[in-house]
Amino acid sequence: MNILISNDDGVSAAGLGVMCDAVKGLGEITVVAPESEQSASSHAITIATPIRAARRPLDGGVCAYSVTGTPADCVKLAVREILGGKPDLVLSGVNLGSNTGISVMYSGTVSAAAEGAIMGIPGAAVSLATYENPFWETAAEAAKIIAATIIRQGLPPGVMLNVNVPNVPPAQIKGYAITKMGQSRFVEVFDRRVNPRGDVYYWLHGELTVLGEAAGTDIQALEQGYVSVTPLGIDRTRHDMLAHLEQWSWHE
Ligand code: MN
Repeated sequence: MNILISNDDGVSAAGLGVMCDAVKGLGEITVVAPESEQSASSHAITIATPIRAARRPLDGGVCAYSVTGTPADCVKLAVREILGGKPDLVLSGVNLGSNTGISVMYSGTVSAAAEGAIMGIPGAAVSLATYENPFWETAAEAAKIIAATIIRQGLPPGVMLNVNVPNVPPAQIKGYAITKMGQSRFVEVFDRRVNPRGDVYYWLHGELTVLGEAAGTDIQALEQGYVSVTPLGIDRTRHDMLAHLEQWSWHE
């Protein structure tokens, strides 16, 4: 069992080491992760600048490479150059911060696993719902269970699991909830600042606002203390709209 691990928080992130330790008993691990933080890089790839990869030993003797690119670059480079073929499983994370609702669209963590799904490799993205005081042992336990279950059950080509873990001690996890992607959006805030030379610049941040029915969503499962498991696909076609649009009259 060859397991490829990547992330979007960068090769130095604590959560990456947590993921490696969690699944090291399940197979041969190779880490290919971004050299710098790539959070919110979504499924970007690097085509206008060169990509460099360097060996970077991690704790526990894990074979690791840091890459001057995005999470999607890392998975592509791993398969085509570093591993020279497809691994059996792609894992991404453990990300610091949840990836529920609309965050799925922006997440580099999700996209590393999605790149695997595009290539027909089963995989999962694992995110821990906090930015401070992480209960890493809870995320580690969930990551191991998710990985072992995917290995046992398999996944169809083009499908990945988006996993979100509540930031509580392991004993407080209520179970595993199979969920759908919740409806939410960011209300953007641009923090306007002025540098010493008088130039205006901005920091983008925002508040996640939950919309729509909460029942059965990743957002609700997290709130209720369940590990949320959402199957995600690659095809974004709204199949329910196809017949409807066929009825339209297409003219000027
Ligand atoms: Mn991140």
